[in-house]
Amino acid sequence: MLPRPNSKAVNRKERLDLPGSGPPRRPPADRLAGFGESWAAVSLEWAQAAARRCIQCPAEPCVRACPLGNDIPFALWHLEHGLVDDAALIFRRTSSMPDICGRVCPQTELCEGVCPYAKQGRPPVPIGRLEAYAADWVSREGLSVRATAARPTGRRIAIVGAGPAGITAAELLAGSGHAVTLFDAWPEAGGLLLYGIPRFKLSPEIVRRKTQHLSRLGIRCQFDTKLGNGLSVDGLVDHGFDAILLAIGAGIGRPLDVPGSDLEGVYQATPFLVRTNTDPASLPPGLRARPEVGRRVAVIGGGDTAMDCVRTALRLGSDEATVWYRRTEAEMPGNPRDRKLAIEEGSRFEWLAAPVGLEADENGQVRAMRLVRMQLGEADASGRRRPIPIPGSEHTVEADTVVLALGYLPDADFVARIAGLDTEPDGRIRVDPLTGATSRPGIFAAGDNVLGPALVVDAVAHGLRAAEAIDSFVSAGGTVATR
Ligand code: SF4
Repeated sequence: MLPRPNSKAVNRKERLDLPGSGPPRRPPADRLAGFGESWAAVSLEWAQAAARRCIQCPAEPCVRACPLGNDIPFALWHLEHGLVDDAALIFRRTSSMPDICGRVCPQTELCEGVCPYAKQGRPPVPIGRLEAYAADWVSREGLSVRATAARPTGRRIAIVGAGPAGITAAELLAGSGHAVTLFDAWPEAGGLLLYGIPRFKLSPEIVRRKTQHLSRLGIRCQFDTKLGNGLSVDGLVDHGFDAILLAIGAGIGRPLDVPGSDLEGVYQATPFLVRTNTDPASLPPGLRARPEVGRRVAVIGGGDTAMDCVRTALRLGSDEATVWYRRTEAEMPGNPRDRKLAIEEGSRFEWLAAPVGLEADENGQVRAMRLVRMQLGEADASGRRRPIPIPGSEHTVEADTVVLALGYLPDADFVARIAGLDTEPDGRIRVDPLTGATSRPGIFAAGDNVLGPALVVDAVAHGLRAAEAIDSFVSAGGTVATR
């Protein structure tokens, strides 16, 4: 490893004059021809030149903006010197998933958003692309900078949910020598990484690269196992687990409460994405057929999932795929970079409109949406201006498929059945924010079932924190409180 650069080693003024660009992407027509990754491949020379633009800010705003506190300047210092393995190792010290976060983080809202170049209205250092580049390099070269299993401690930990928080915690705990069993309702590990994020953003091979490592660490995996269906938290206690981590996510699609929302051709976002992007062999039988989208697809919502759905609809062959959002672009949540890609690919956007009903054809298949136009009023509790229907503005548009991307809710009913857990009014599990400890000793929770729908990187950070707390708990002889 190199020493940290001092101010003499980096001429900031000179570096700030270096030209830069965002991560190169494949042309839209190529992207639309399949489900391959949207990014173009980059060379080591490109990565070194991009890393060389980092001015090694003493205040490290990017580190502070990264939920994992990745040591970005130090990693980029190694990358610019061609020391890719060391760069990967530095990212790996704080992140269990640099190849994944580098791809799916909304960098413009996090590390890259505070880069001095971005502050000047210029392309920031493409931190996410460089992080993923370094992590991919290490995998390609067959090098491993991942945790290895320690001497067995004899303590047993059950992790329920094999998404980003659960996988992260499993890896850390197994690396500390604990016997970890990972349960998940889907047939494979990955959670939303495999079943929720389209492969043009995150290829399944990258997720599997991670999950295959779990068995090498000796983690036992029990899939197709949903808590509540023959598996209960108290059952896990009876089976002798010393601690339990609940990392079941927030996977209930928010419903659209208008007449006709149960028609054929109306999909919740997750089943729509899963049936399209996932290898049928990795799916339960009822989800294996691809949706027939027809000519016109309407996506209701405005966040990242809406962008995933509209881009998926275009790849499925729809002529016209439109996002309908009840506010304006200025209030849209989600990653602006994804929106830009969606626009490049031909997605349409209709602002200030909300559905009030869906209409069927003679076969019960959706054929049209009734919409009302909106205007913005005062800010609501979310801080965004509230959409208000404009009287007399109702109109109808044709739609062969409607996809609901209205956000996700935690499974409040499921959580309510676990004895001794305090919850928030919306069903999220209440925890100690520093440890992830719930109100029942020995049961911890991390990820979206605590945070609500959040970023992958937040779930990873949460999983890391909970794993450290569980390690301390079981290492001190703690066991789950029985009820
Ligand atoms: Fe940026 Fe996300 Fe990587 Fe942190 S984890 S450095 S926020 S891309």
